[in-house]
Amino acid sequence: MLSTYQLTAGYGAVPVLFDVEIEIRASESVAIIGANGAGKSTLVRTICGLLPTMAGCIEKEGRSIETLAAHGRAGLGIAVVLEGRHLFGELSLESNLRIAEAQGRKRKDVRFDFSFDDVLDLFPFMRARLDAPVGVFSGGEQQMVAIGRALLLKPDLLILDEPSTGLAPKVVREIVQVIQGLRRRGMSLLIIEQHVGVAAECSDRAYVLALGRVVDQLEPDRWHNRATTDDLAKAYLGG
Ligand code: ATP
Repeated sequence: MLSTYQLTAGYGAVPVLFDVEIEIRASESVAIIGANGAGKSTLVRTICGLLPTMAGCIEKEGRSIETLAAHGRAGLGIAVVLEGRHLFGELSLESNLRIAEAQGRKRKDVRFDFSFDDVLDLFPFMRARLDAPVGVFSGGEQQMVAIGRALLLKPDLLILDEPSTGLAPKVVREIVQVIQGLRRRGMSLLIIEQHVGVAAECSDRAYVLALGRVVDQLEPDRWHNRATTDDLAKAYLGG
């Protein structure tokens, strides 16, 4: 589905990711974990085309995409929910969703055909709030809007950057359930998480990023073993 090879990227002339090699197979959910500043968000931004690739390449289904702009990559089915969500705060919920719906309609032969109503079914609170500006929504509600909007782009790879950060435990549970539902439907997912427990619940396997490099790769048996994840949290995430 998507692979990076010797991917180097950063800001200006300064690299902060070095030779990163990850792979997300079709219908697989992969987590990236790592401490603050490890380079997780930089990796997301580079994969979705918001930052240029300095060296190496990114392939989606065998096609090099590192020279495509972000909208070109979205057109190939890569959708991202960035940290901070980047919603149109003054526009209504309906407008936020309709803008994405219009973009998603341009995609042909999609595997996951989410409609406006499907998104409302996934997040029922939205039905009564369609006219409200999303800027007044709670953090959890905004995260759900950001996920709904990404789904309307009809992606086959959904990238979620820190979906649980700053949210109340009850809201995190709701978001985890939605992510698990997407996994069951076979959507490919890349999940960036500092919370190892949440990451493990939402993914099949994981990569550990430290100082811009992949320092460990956890296959399902290790990744879903509580002792391993406790050790990882101590080694890389400060407890
Ligand atoms: P966090 O969990 O805190 O978001 P992260 O693992 O996502 O951390 P990045 O945000 O990718 O890490 O940051 C990786 C490195 O790149 C850090 O050293 C950071 O200071 C640097 N960096 C991030 N954004 C910029 C920027 N806009 N300009 C310059 N350097 C940046």
